[in-house]
Amino acid sequence: MDDLAHSMDLCSIHNHERTIIHIDIDCFYAQVEMIKNPALRHCPLGIQQKNIIVTSNYVAREYGIQKCMLISEGLRLCPQLVLVRGEDLYDYRQMSAKITSLLHRFSPLVEKLGLDENFVDVTDLVAERLEDSTDQRIVDGCVYGDLNEKCECGCKKRLCIGSCIAGEVRSEICNILGITSCAGVAHNKLLAKLVCATHKPNQQTTVFPCNSLALVSSLQNVGCIPGIGHRMYETLQFLGISSVTDLHNCDLTSLQEALGNDMAIKIKKLCFGIDDSPVKQTGKPQSIGLEDGFMKVCLESDVRDKLATLLQRLLKLFSHDGRIPGSVRVTVRKYDSILKYSHRMSRQCNVTASFFRNSASDRNEPISPKSKETLIAVIMKLFHKMVDISKPFHLTLLGLAFTKFQERKTGKSSIASFLTNDISVQSVLSFKSVLSEAEKMEYSCIHSPPHICVEKSDSESEPEPSPKKSRTGKKRFSSEDDSLPNKLISEGSSGDYVDNAVWEDSGLKSLNEQELVTQKILAEESTSGITGTISLDSRMNACRSSDGVLDVANDEFQCPHNIDVDVFHALPHDLKKELMGAWRIGRDKTSPVSLSKETMLHAKPKQRSILQYFISNK
Ligand SMILES: [Mg+2]
Ligand SMILES: [Zn+2]
Repeated sequence: MDDLAHSMDLCSIHNHERTIIHIDIDCFYAQVEMIKNPALRHCPLGIQQKNIIVTSNYVAREYGIQKCMLISEGLRLCPQLVLVRGEDLYDYRQMSAKITSLLHRFSPLVEKLGLDENFVDVTDLVAERLEDSTDQRIVDGCVYGDLNEKCECGCKKRLCIGSCIAGEVRSEICNILGITSCAGVAHNKLLAKLVCATHKPNQQTTVFPCNSLALVSSLQNVGCIPGIGHRMYETLQFLGISSVTDLHNCDLTSLQEALGNDMAIKIKKLCFGIDDSPVKQTGKPQSIGLEDGFMKVCLESDVRDKLATLLQRLLKLFSHDGRIPGSVRVTVRKYDSILKYSHRMSRQCNVTASFFRNSASDRNEPISPKSKETLIAVIMKLFHKMVDISKPFHLTLLGLAFTKFQERKTGKSSIASFLTNDISVQSVLSFKSVLSEAEKMEYSCIHSPPHICVEKSDSESEPEPSPKKSRTGKKRFSSEDDSLPNKLISEGSSGDYVDNAVWEDSGLKSLNEQELVTQKILAEESTSGITGTISLDSRMNACRSSDGVLDVANDEFQCPHNIDVDVFHALPHDLKKELMGAWRIGRDKTSPVSLSKETMLHAKPKQRSILQYFISNK
């Protein structure tokens, strides 16, 4: 290892403060289909998009069914394979939003990566638990490499706590949504994603800093490093850099000459397992809530204590959110011991923004003690609207949520200051009773899990400006769907790192787009006067597009010339990448470095490569 490696090693030692969890749902589409139709659980199941199996359940995998296999090949291997059409992503998006929303209970810093992967920065939660606990924490789940972390910055203990949180996250997802997942725990995003894939399915793995270099070095080639996209991989290959070791050993100066200073350093850092990129919040949740379930609470004083605890935790959770809540909602679950039946109800009311004016100044005391007292009084008032304490009561759950967020803007002309002034001259509270979505569900569907507590705004916060939203259930799953999306999104490719390129670009792109949209809306609002936060939110959602990811994915690859353009563009990202790989191998055999269209035209598929299925037989 050269000097640079040593200096990078040193710099990484001082940067283990964060704890990042990468959550990857096991065979996501297949799990969603198995929830919709539990009979499928025991069948080999493949999810079909066009003529390709985009994912399959684990029963099917035992027959050798693989991601991106042709339907014909899948049926040859497993004639009893059950195929479900997966072109309509509506249900997958709904579930994806629920998962992300659930993750927000652990941290506001949640970054979506495709439909089935998320990064969660739990640094604050870890710090909180570190204060509380005196016991020696042990790691939950698997460990990559050995446990002998020598670093004295405290990272080992933090990551152990992180692994316990990851365990909690995964059991929440499983208990509430019935979905199994994998998790990776590390001090940065790169390592968390990489280590997540080392034990699958339904497992979790932690990597300590001392093993990070070994983890990155274990990758097949530099193209497997998340953050090195397809084009960068080609460029590096052109430079004679293929393996991670090649990249370790290559001279930084020549890399800088070829890639530019910033990119060269970034790439060099990545291959040593160094990644300073933050977890970027993807679309802020429309509500932030917490719930606490228990056997029995029947005293008003206990209710007050529990709600106060929830409030304290909630205030911390949204302290870096940057927004001011406009409404507070209290949820209770009452148990009727005679009818042996429990049901939930919620009440919410608007709260004045002045409560939260100083929230940003001190994270530990986001609001003044006086405001907090008033807020608790408000919360108790809501509670009394649902529970008559003059009679005995039996509660099994209490929940608290903030909703109707407004952006915190300090400028005089900003919409927030407008709203703030307006609200503060009104009475402090304007109560209104609402039958929450959860309640409706409870009344209409007794089969629903008793504590589905994903926020009701999930369905509203579905980020697609998609016409599918208004489509009816029965049409959605028609196999004769004549309105197939032009672009198919494939489930994130977990085992292989096919989505690298997407990760590399999409975060930035979608974030910037979103910021632009936000700014645009705020600008519109401030000129056109006051509108409520709800319409602001819904309009933001209408404009927001998670398809940033997809667009990048599609722009990423140019269609090889011997493949039908329409067919190529309709393929899932994974498959495009695989095709490009196959094409490249074919091309490289004729001319290892040339990138000319000539070679593209003459590309010959490798025997048994996926490419042969797509080349027209003319
Ligand atoms: Mg997955
Ligand atoms: Zn450390």
